[in-house]
Amino acid sequence: MDHKTFRKHAHKLVDWMADYLENIEEYPVRSQSSPGDIYRQIEAAAPENGQDFEQIFADFKDIIIPGMTHWQHPSFHAYFPANSSPPSVLAEMLTATMGAQCMIWQTSPAAAELEARMMEWLAAMKGLPEGFTGVIQDTASTATLVAILTAREKLTDFAINQSGFQDGQRFAIYCSRQTHSSIEKGVKIAGFGRESLRAIDVDEAFALRIDKLRSAIESDLASGVKPLCVVATIGSTGSTAIDPLPAIAELCEQHDIWLHVDAAYAGSAAVLPEMRWMFAGMEKVDSYVFNPHKWLFTNFDCTAYYVRDQEALIRTFEILPEYLKTREGGQVDNYRDWGIPLGRRFRALKLWFVLRSYGVEGIREKLRLHIALAQAFAATLTSTAEFEVMAPVPLNTVCFRWKPAGVDDIEKLNHLNAELLETLNQSGKAYLTHTKLNGAYVLRMVIGQTNVTAEHVEHVWELIRKIAADMSV
Ligand SMILES: *Cc1c(COP(=O)(O)O)cnc(C)c1O
Repeated sequence: MDHKTFRKHAHKLVDWMADYLENIEEYPVRSQSSPGDIYRQIEAAAPENGQDFEQIFADFKDIIIPGMTHWQHPSFHAYFPANSSPPSVLAEMLTATMGAQCMIWQTSPAAAELEARMMEWLAAMKGLPEGFTGVIQDTASTATLVAILTAREKLTDFAINQSGFQDGQRFAIYCSRQTHSSIEKGVKIAGFGRESLRAIDVDEAFALRIDKLRSAIESDLASGVKPLCVVATIGSTGSTAIDPLPAIAELCEQHDIWLHVDAAYAGSAAVLPEMRWMFAGMEKVDSYVFNPHKWLFTNFDCTAYYVRDQEALIRTFEILPEYLKTREGGQVDNYRDWGIPLGRRFRALKLWFVLRSYGVEGIREKLRLHIALAQAFAATLTSTAEFEVMAPVPLNTVCFRWKPAGVDDIEKLNHLNAELLETLNQSGKAYLTHTKLNGAYVLRMVIGQTNVTAEHVEHVWELIRKIAADMSV
């Protein structure tokens, strides 16, 4: 494709992008495709000869779009959002155009230095205590793995990196039963084995029980197992439960255990001074992760990882083959040594665009609206017969279920709520997902999409009541 053709198609694509975002509510939120629908429409092999871009773009619209779930639709309430925003999209266009691989300072000094600044901006916006250094990772899963590996090396004086695990060495990693699955994945990848993971019971608010954590640590110590790391969650994936960080931090300090905080979703809430209570205890934390790519209007992927012992992090991952040696080594941050992959995208640019476009106050306004909408929705559910809120709502995730009069059997209720959810999602008008809390199937409504308004929430609520009313019990 020559420059002239590129320019022509780029202009057309930008028009399509603007139309897409403007008319996104006309698309079904969850894709209506069935398994194999898209696969069958794609040629079995790559074409021998180049094809016309007009045809490629036409196929994108005809084949790909029907197979997309529209995450930027304001009635997307599933999982946690991967919200985006126009300034973020514009930055991603520039990033893609420059196509830089930002593994070390020299391969794009602006990427490394802007990243350092953006991590400082975020830390200040969130009121993070002094002493943390930040780096962008691809996902929270990777950041947590990085934390576990750094804890492993620091605790063993970098011996496992050097010689591998020794016979008879046993370690334990702790988290709550509501912790995200990425912790188990990290523990497996880091070589500890799933049996080293202690899933601690939770209380009635689905937060880690400190008494259970204490006894688990004590019993490990008594049997010669070394407690290595605790992963505390601020804003669990199921119900945004908040683990008791100050008490956990005290235990970790007492036993010299690495404390990692997973606030992948809820971390954005710290931008609001009135929500900082959730993060009490952060001054004693070793590492911390949150995802601007969830609830900070920045395209996936963009994870902010903060660590206190920067030297331990770098010593864990540093590698310096001859072909990567540069004259600036030692004076600059070469982020390839701050995580797992060598290659890195230029992710700081979209953060810069987003934070400057909205300003901190503009971001606060959006977050406050989302939280207020969720609080109002929870209040509505509480005051409506036949619906119940199933977990505390500290932020903007509401876990609830339909409980028709006279139905008490848990299996029956689970079945009815699963049916209700499927009917709702199949309608294409909204998309919610579910979780299980104490065996109960609950609908999870996350109100965090960039452009969601009170009208959108009201509309979903009407749909839910209508579907429930039409269902036979
Ligand atoms: C979403 C989430 C994760 C995983 O995030 P990725 O960036 O997709 O790896 C981890 N922990 C919590 C609490 C989450 O909500």
